[in-house]
Amino acid sequence: MTPPSGIELAGGNPQSLPVVPTPAESSPISQPQLALESQLAELLAAFRAARPNDDTAPIEKAYQYAAKYHSGQFRASGEPYLSHPLAVAKILADMRMDVVSVVTGLLHDIVEDTIVTASDVQKIFGDEISRCVDGVTKLSKIDFFSAEDRQAESYRKLLLAMVNDIRVIIVKLADRLHNMRTLGALSPERRERIAKETLEIYSPISHRLGMGKIRGELEDLAFRHLDPEAFEEISTAIESQRSAHEDYLNRMRQTVEEHLKREGIPGKVEGRVKRAFSVYQKLKRQKISIDQVYDLLAMRIITDSVKNCYGALGIIHSEWRPVPGRIKDFIAIPRPNLYQSLHTSVVGHDGKHCEIQIRTEEMHRIAEEGIAAHWKYKEGKRGVQEDQRIAWLRQLVEWQQDMRDPADFGNTLKLDLYPEEVYCFTPKGRVIVLPAGASPLDFAYAVHSEVGNTCVGAKVNSRIVPLRYALRNGEVVDILTQSGHVPSKDWLGIVKTSRARNKIKHFINANERERAIEIGQKFLEKEARRLGVQLSRIPRQDLEKVAAEYGSAKLEDLYAALGYGKFSARQVLQKAAPDQVVEQPAQHVPPPPPPPGTSKADDDAVIKVRGVEDVMVYRAKCCNPIKGDPIVGYVTRGKGIAVHSKACTNVTNLMYDSERRIEVEWARNVGDSFPVKIVVQTDDRPGLLHQLTTILAAENANVRSLEAKTNFDDSAGGASVEMTVDVRDRKQLDKLCGAMRRISGVRDVERPQHT
Ligand code: MN
Repeated sequence: MTPPSGIELAGGNPQSLPVVPTPAESSPISQPQLALESQLAELLAAFRAARPNDDTAPIEKAYQYAAKYHSGQFRASGEPYLSHPLAVAKILADMRMDVVSVVTGLLHDIVEDTIVTASDVQKIFGDEISRCVDGVTKLSKIDFFSAEDRQAESYRKLLLAMVNDIRVIIVKLADRLHNMRTLGALSPERRERIAKETLEIYSPISHRLGMGKIRGELEDLAFRHLDPEAFEEISTAIESQRSAHEDYLNRMRQTVEEHLKREGIPGKVEGRVKRAFSVYQKLKRQKISIDQVYDLLAMRIITDSVKNCYGALGIIHSEWRPVPGRIKDFIAIPRPNLYQSLHTSVVGHDGKHCEIQIRTEEMHRIAEEGIAAHWKYKEGKRGVQEDQRIAWLRQLVEWQQDMRDPADFGNTLKLDLYPEEVYCFTPKGRVIVLPAGASPLDFAYAVHSEVGNTCVGAKVNSRIVPLRYALRNGEVVDILTQSGHVPSKDWLGIVKTSRARNKIKHFINANERERAIEIGQKFLEKEARRLGVQLSRIPRQDLEKVAAEYGSAKLEDLYAALGYGKFSARQVLQKAAPDQVVEQPAQHVPPPPPPPGTSKADDDAVIKVRGVEDVMVYRAKCCNPIKGDPIVGYVTRGKGIAVHSKACTNVTNLMYDSERRIEVEWARNVGDSFPVKIVVQTDDRPGLLHQLTTILAAENANVRSLEAKTNFDDSAGGASVEMTVDVRDRKQLDKLCGAMRRISGVRDVERPQHT
C-alpha cells in the first residue's frame, strides 16, 4: 500500500510532509499516523513558543477527540482528514492566537463533517469553545455561489454580522488559507469556485481586518488558480526585475543605511518585492503592460519610534527628489483598518522610481497581522473589553467606501449609521440587507417597488408572519403579492427603510392627486351650476389659459389645485367667463350662502359646504364635532373635506394650512344623533355613578360605553368616568354637561379636544 503523497499541494505548502514510503504493516503505528503525530508536535511547539505560560492540555485533548471522529476520513489529496484541522491550528498558533482559537481550529469541521454535535462539543470543551466552533460551522454553511446574482459586498457583511467572537473569523480565515494552499488536489471547477470566493469574500475581509500577510497570500494563491498564465507572466517579470535591479536596490539601501546611521536613527532597511496580485491589479487599473511597470521593487524602513519615521522620511527626501502626490502619511491618519505607515516615492539612483514605506515595529506587526495583533495585546476577560472589540470590528466592516450606489449610501447614512443590520434571503438566495427591526414590507420594497405595492402578506422560513414582523438574520422571506393590491397609509407606521417609506408615500400621493382632480372638477361644475354659468360652453382653451395663469401646466393641475382647495371655483369661473360671473371685492372671501329655502338636496346631508354640494365631507375623528358646534372645513389631500370643531386643537395649532380652510355649516334638518365622548372628574363616592346615569336617562340619551376609574395616584381620592353618549346636538350636550356639573362631588366635565 502506497501512502498518500502531498505532491499536489499548491505553492510549496509548509504543511506538506516528507513522504517516506513504509509498509504500513511493518510498524504498529502507520505512516500517516506518524505524520499526524509529528504535525501535532509542531503545533504544540509553535504554541509553546508563542505562549510559554499557557496550558497545552486542551490542545492535546482536542487533538485526540478530533482524531477519534475524523478517523477514516481523507482529504482530496489522500491525506488523513485530520491533517487539515492540524494545519489550521498551526497557522493560528503561528499567529500567536490563544488556546481557544487553536482548539477551535482543531475542532472547526467536527460538527459539520462527523457525528459529533454542537452539544457534544459544549459538554466536553465548554461554552467558549463550543460557541466558537458553532460560529465557524455557521460561516461554512453560507453558500455564496447559490445566490442568483452574487453580491460579494452583502455576503461579506452577512458573514461578519454572524460573528459574535472575533476569533471565529480568524479561525475561518486560517481554514481558508490552508484550503487555498492545498487547492491543487481539487477538480478545476471546485478550484475556480473556491479561488473566486476567496478573492471576493475572504481576502477583502482579511484586508478589512488589517491582516496584510494573510490577505497577500490568499490573493496570490487565488490569482494563481484563476489566471495561471497572467500569474506566471507577472511572477517571472518580478523575478527578472529583482535580479536585474539587485545592484541598484543594494546601492539605494546602502545610502539609506549610511544616512540613518549618521543621524542616529536605528532602523532596518529591506528590499521589498511587490505581490503578483497587486501588480496585476495595477496593470489592470492603469491599462498598461508588465514592461511598463518600473517600480516592481520597493524598500521598507522599520525603525523604533514615530519621531524616527518622520526623521527617516526627511533623510530620504533630502537625498532623492520625491515624486509629487505620492507622499502619504498614514501615521497621522491611519487607514480604517488601523494600518499605519509613511509612504513615499522617490526618483532614486539612475532616475529610477522607488517606492518606500517607513514604519515602526509595532506598525509593521499591525500591518501584517491586523486584528490578530490587536487581539494579543488586549487579551483578557470577556465582557466590556470583548464588547468593545466587537464594536470595533463592526466599525471596521462598515465598508462605506465600497458602497456603489450613491442613493444607497444616503439611505445608509440616515437609518443605518450604526451597522445594526439584518441580512435576509429571497427564496432564490439573493441577500437583502435591511436595518434592524425592518419588516417584510421593507424587504418587499427592497426587492422591487411593485412587489412592495402589491404585498398582501409574507412567509418567513415558510411560516406566515404579520407585516409588522421584525426580520432576523438569515431568514428566507417569501413575499405574497396580489395584483391590483395597493399600499395602505398604515404601512408608513410599519416600515423602517426610507426606500419603502418613499415608495409608499409616492403611491399614496399619486392616488390622492387623482381624487383631488375629481373633487376639483366637481367643485367647478357645481359652482358653475350655482352661478348659472354653462361650463360646457366655455372653450377648453379658455380654461387652459386660466390654468396657465394659476401656474398650472395642464388643466388637470388646475382641477387638482381646486380639489386641494388652493383657490376657489368661483375665482376660476370669474377668469374663464368674466362676463357671466360678477367679480368679488376680495379674492379669498367665499361666496355668500344661498338664500334660505333655496338650497335643495340638503335633507340627508349633515354638513353642507357653502357654495358647493355633493362633495365628500366627513367629521374629523380628533374632535368629533356635533351639530351646533362651531365648525370649519378643511380640504384634505384626496379624502374630501374634513370638518373640525373650531375649538379643535388640531385646527388651533398652526398645523393646518389656512389656504385649505373652507366654510362649512350644519344642515338644517339633521335628525341624526352624534356619539360624543365625555369625561367626568369626580370625588370617589358611592352613588355618584347612579346620579350620572339618571341624568342621561332623563334626557333620553343613549349610552354607548361607560367606564369608571379610581385615580389611585390622586391624593384627594378622585375618580374619572369616561363615557360615549349619543346626543342630538350641542344644545342637548350642554344641557347634559350642565346637569352633571351640578351633582355634588363632580369636579369637572369635559369633552376631549374641546377644552
Ligand atoms: Mn476546514
